[in-house]
This record gives sequence, structure tokens and C-alpha cells, in this order.
Amino acid sequence: MDFNDTPEEAAFRTEVRAWLAANAPAHVIPQGVALDDTEEVQRGRAWQRAVYDGGYAGITFPKALGGRGGSVIEAVVFSEEEAQYHLPKGPYIGIGLGMAIAAIAKHGTEEQRQKFIEPTLKGELTWCQLFSEPSAGSDLANLRTKAVKEGDDWIVNGQKVWSSWAHRSDWGILIVRTDPSVPKHKGLTFFVVDMKSPGIEIRPIRQISGASDFNETFLTDVRIPDSNRIGDVGGGWGVCMTVLMGERLGSGSHKAQVSPLLDYAASTPGMNGGTALDSGSIRAALAQAMAEEQGAKYLEARLRTMVSRGENPGALAGMIKMSYASRLQKTSGLAMELRGLDAIAPSIDDTLTRSIQYDYIWSTVMRIAGGADEVLKNQIAERVLGMPGEIRMDKDVPFEALK
Ligand SMILES: Cc1cc2nc3c(=O)[nH]c(=O)nc-3n(C[C@H](O)[C@H](O)[C@H](O)COP(=O)(O)OP(=O)(O)OC[C@H]3O[C@@H](n4cnc5c(N)ncnc54)[C@H](O)[C@@H]3O)c2cc1C
Repeated sequence: MDFNDTPEEAAFRTEVRAWLAANAPAHVIPQGVALDDTEEVQRGRAWQRAVYDGGYAGITFPKALGGRGGSVIEAVVFSEEEAQYHLPKGPYIGIGLGMAIAAIAKHGTEEQRQKFIEPTLKGELTWCQLFSEPSAGSDLANLRTKAVKEGDDWIVNGQKVWSSWAHRSDWGILIVRTDPSVPKHKGLTFFVVDMKSPGIEIRPIRQISGASDFNETFLTDVRIPDSNRIGDVGGGWGVCMTVLMGERLGSGSHKAQVSPLLDYAASTPGMNGGTALDSGSIRAALAQAMAEEQGAKYLEARLRTMVSRGENPGALAGMIKMSYASRLQKTSGLAMELRGLDAIAPSIDDTLTRSIQYDYIWSTVMRIAGGADEVLKNQIAERVLGMPGEIRMDKDVPFEALK
């Protein structure tokens, strides 16, 4: 493939750059500044509204649903340019755009598309993902939260965990067990749930950073109308796969991490006079990081091309996420090393070091969130490289018969 923009793509990039230069700076959150989460969500909604008003929300969604009716490559160009600014685009926006409305567009009814897609593109609806449970993380199909049909409603009982930003979300995407008498992947159903529904209790989990971005979510006799079911009863696993591919492609999207580091090394005093950039070992580490970043950029281009042709990258999407997580860990670790002892306890006004420290701590969670490295490696080994699969004793056993 040709990695240079076609004349049309170059024109689109110029248009996007001009629009961002005129609109993004007012919405930027300075690096290292942590906002109160209510304010962050307000600013996230406002930025998403600005993107919608500018005509760039849901670039690949049809115009009839509030999108732009554009191509995957245009969406990539926009996100590459948008990534040059530090904007409020947390999971409360990302889960809606990348997962909820992607699932609704593919598996929902026309009524559901009309109800959810455009308001999400406008930033009016925020979303959380209610998938993981205490004994269902990597093995998501082991989930126990159940739904039983009663008239036109489903009654849901169970517990979810690690629900990012559930406390600031209007809606959740939810997967539950509706039939325990069949093997574990077959008895699951996918819903959207109004987070204000009676019976939903959200308990924050406190993190090392002091923030509480995620939660435990308890569901007790929560009533969900059947009209909020996405896809077939028992077809939830297929809907989940649409969602998770979006999550893995989205969470790794290319962002230059090394060039800011080059500038940082060039402005950091070296051990023997000069700058840190004079050190052979720092130069070697930066060169390695640069090579890995370029490799990831081209891998991502390859996968996006597949998506733009209507092909499904499947397990390959996990490579993007894995590569991003390991590169972030290395580059933020290198930045911490350059900063020296100050990196451990930066002063309150040293926003640059504070943001480096935040990235370093955060980089470890990226190796787990959205699929742990080990599990993604297993999937790539089995589904991409054709290596023998793990032994799965529970594959054909009814869920209720599992110990
Ligand atoms: C920052 C963050 C945000 C998150 N946000 C959400 C959210 O909004 N909504 C949501 O539903 N979930 C969310 N999660 C949960 C996330 O999806 C799970 O943490 C992830 O799927 C791993 O599951 P687990 O934590 O239960 O770990 P486990 O599955 O218990 O795994 C523990 C360890 O065992 C290893 N392991 C497990 N199975 C295998 C195997 N077969 N082979 C080899 N090794 C194995 C794993 O790789 C891992 O190292 C979030 C997690 C994080 C860290």
C-alpha cells in the first residue's frame, strides 16, 4: 500500500487541520492537570458536540444516522490529527462511539439506531461497559449475571466490576446469561441499560492515583425492556465480538510517543555535561522505541486497510493493543529515567513530570484492560499463526453443569 495521502486525503487532512486549529485549543486540557470527573465529562460532552457541529462525528456512520458518510481512512486522518491535542475524550465518550453505537449500528433495530446513534455522536449520551465480573475477565463467557424474561421485560441480577466511568454514564452496554442450560458462549444476550434504572448500585473503586475512574456495579432486580435487547436472545457473544474488536483497534491507535521524548532528552542535562541525548544508551533506547513505533504505525495502517475493505482483522486487532501497551510502558519508563529521582515525587507545579509519572503508572493497566497480553498472545497464536489451541474442557458443557 501507499503510505502517503492521496490528493483527496491530503485535502481532507488540510481541512481537518484548519478546523482543529480553530476549534480544539478552547477544549484542550493542559498535560498533567487532573479535572474533577464531573467537569471532565462536561468538557468531554462539549468537545464531542463541537466535533458533531463541525461535521466530523461518526465519520464512517451514514448521514441519515447523523454521521458523515465518509471512509475509514478519513476517520483515521481525523483521529491522527485530533491526537495532536490533549482533548477530553475519556471512556465515557470512547465507549459510546467505539463500542455502543458500533454494536447498535451492526446488530440493533432501526428504532434503536435512531434512538441512540445521533445523540451519542452529539455527546448527549455517555456510556459505560458492563462486561467484566469478579470471575469473568479474560474468560468473559464465564459470567454469571443473569436475566430472566418476565412479560416484555427482563429481570437482571448480578455484579459487574471495573466498570469505567459508570458513575458518570447515562447508558451501559451489558452482557448477561439468559440460558444456563447451553454451553457458556451460547447462552448470553446483549442489552443496553439506562444507568438510572432502579436496582443499579454503583460503588467506586479507589485507585493508586487517588481517582476513582472505575466501579463495582451491582444489579438487583433491574428491569430492562426487551426493546433494549441488541441482537438475538442467546446471540450476545457475537455482539460482544464486534464491540471488542472496536475496543482493541481503538485503544491502540497510533500516537507519536517518541518525538516528544527526543525533545525531552535534548533539554535534559546529561551526566557529563551536554544533554541526555549525548548518552549512547539513551540514544540506543530511543532508536529502538522509534523503530517499534514505526512498525506499529504500518501494522495499524494494514489493519485499517483491511477494515476499509470490509475485512475483519479478528485476532490481529489484539496486536495493535498489545504493541501500544508495551511501547507506552517503555517510553514512559524511559521518560521517568531521564527525569531521575524527581520523577518519584514531582513538585505540584511540575506538570510535565506529573504527566510522565501518570503515563508510567497508567501504562501497566493497558497491559490488562481490553484483554490481557497473555490472552491476546494466545489468540494470535491460535487464530493467526494456526498453533494448537489451549485445552478447553468446558467448551461443549452446559454452563449450569460446570463446577
Ligand atoms: C483500566 C481498566 C479499565 C477497565 N474498564 C472496564 C470496563 O469499563 N468495563 C469492563 O467490563 N471491564 C473493564 N476492565 C476489565 C478488563 O476487561 C479485565 O481486567 C481484563 O479482561 C482481564 O480480566 P481480569 O482482570 O479478570 O484478569 P484475569 O482474567 O483473572 O487474569 C489474571 C491474569 O491471568 C492471566 N490469564 C488469564 N487467563 C489466561 C490464559 N488462558 N492463559 C494465560 N494467561 C491467562 C491474565 O493474562 C492475567 O495476567 C478494565 C480493566 C482495567 C485495568
